[in-house]
Amino acid sequence: MNIISRSEFLKITTFFALGTMLDACNSNPKKTTQKEVEKVKQSLTFLDSDLIIITNQDERYDSLRAGFNKRINNTPKVIALCLTPLGVEQAVEYAILNKLKTTVKSGGHCLEGFSSASECIINVSLLQTIAINADNTATIGPGATVSQLYNTLLPLGKILPSGSCAGVAISGLSLGGGYGILSRRYGLTCDSLVAATVIDGQAKKHLATDNSPLAWACRGGGNGNFGVVTSLTFQLQEAPKTIQTHIFKIKSALPERIQSVLENWFTITKNLNWNLFSGFVLNKRSIFIMLVNSNPEEYTAKDIFDQLSALTDKTIPGSLMPTARAVKSFYGIQTPLYFKNSCAGLYRSFDDIAVAIPQIIEKIHKSKGLIYAINTWGGNIQNTAFEARSSFAHRAYNYTSELQSYWELPTEENNRISEFDSTLQLFLANGNTAQYRNYPNVNFENWQQAYYGKNYERLKTIKQKYDPNSVFVHPQSI
Ligand SMILES: Cc1cc2nc3c(=O)[nH]c(=O)nc-3n(C[C@H](O)[C@H](O)[C@H](O)COP(=O)(O)OP(=O)(O)OC[C@H]3O[C@@H](n4cnc5c(N)ncnc54)[C@H](O)[C@@H]3O)c2cc1C
Repeated sequence: MNIISRSEFLKITTFFALGTMLDACNSNPKKTTQKEVEKVKQSLTFLDSDLIIITNQDERYDSLRAGFNKRINNTPKVIALCLTPLGVEQAVEYAILNKLKTTVKSGGHCLEGFSSASECIINVSLLQTIAINADNTATIGPGATVSQLYNTLLPLGKILPSGSCAGVAISGLSLGGGYGILSRRYGLTCDSLVAATVIDGQAKKHLATDNSPLAWACRGGGNGNFGVVTSLTFQLQEAPKTIQTHIFKIKSALPERIQSVLENWFTITKNLNWNLFSGFVLNKRSIFIMLVNSNPEEYTAKDIFDQLSALTDKTIPGSLMPTARAVKSFYGIQTPLYFKNSCAGLYRSFDDIAVAIPQIIEKIHKSKGLIYAINTWGGNIQNTAFEARSSFAHRAYNYTSELQSYWELPTEENNRISEFDSTLQLFLANGNTAQYRNYPNVNFENWQQAYYGKNYERLKTIKQKYDPNSVFVHPQSI
């Protein structure tokens, strides 16, 4: 699969990025550039510092506050740029001393910019170390990105099941759950989390391990809520040798056909083999379906392939691609974009959207660039052992979805958002109110239940213990 250009991306959809941002995400634009990293390293030698406090007078302020979503324009009072884990402790002390409401930023890919939405940003994007341990685990810095992780692990024949976009940081991803093409086989990224080091809201350091409440909270409920995670240790898996990705397309379909294809896709993907992952994307009138097989040498998935092929107009069979190459095909575009994306509900089956879907398809069909993407969960995500160890509340759902809208000029924002909101409202009114925390929306009314379900009350207790004075605050923090 080739990476498409930005303009192509805006015209057509693919779901090379798991239907989340499609091809919109090749690296972390919000992260400090290599030049800036070098500059910071140089300043280290003469500042002898673990931490740099940056205000809006500093030339680095804009690049360090900016995020992947160009729509967001948060202006914190200060940015605490951490150069070492010790610098993180100092940063939290600084925030407490100066009574600054604080948020944490790693990869900067939060859809709603929560990582920059406070008075003080603790920026840990430079903490990117990845150490492989003898017991088949890896200990990584919070700023390490998906691509950095794959680049380090895959040459060793190892992998951490994570997301697809190159620039998303593993900490932001795993603290909210984290899924990708291998999740049905191995579980969510947070399910591989063995231990996390956390500097809490009182600047105290904790090693959260095993089934401790803090470790439980970090597995799905940890985004900017209890403190700053300064390192994460994950169990590693043997990487698949090859990955095969088939694409099925319909260039243009009328609403009735779209509905029928969607319903059939749900039926075909209901009991997928755990080695398989599938995504469905509707972009106005076009349909793209992806079938990813992470064990193609032993299981061909011919039955599923044939059914999806019969359902659509064009089939592009995938080759057996070495995993290191295959993961790159999901990396996406490098530059930041204007967009509004959020979860549009988690589903058990087509029945969960059956009543509302005709109206929803009608709207997307006529819309200016609305994209509706659904991806398969289920498989090992539903492992009961994982459920007990984590605060991730939504394992019973077999599918996650995302509504997306992208535009090129700020002047388009109002219209696009109004179209987005009215479409999303159809899902909410239909009762699709359980949502994936890593696809947040500032307008979800009952976000506590939507993201955390029955686990919210326990998460609140943990918040009271580790951040009793609510130092860590963003628009939807616990
Ligand atoms: C282009 C794109 C592709 C995506 N693809 C996938 C995908 O394939 N699978 C998937 O599951 N999700 C995906 N997502 C969603 C992604 O998982 C979330 O946006 C994730 O939270 C981003 O993490 P980040 O560190 O890059 O972002 P940030 O904006 O830096 O952080 C996100 C949240 O985590 C908190 N946080 C970050 N670091 C820490 C830390 N060290 N300690 C405590 N809190 C912290 C922040 O405060 C914020 O609330 C995608 C998002 C985008 C924009």
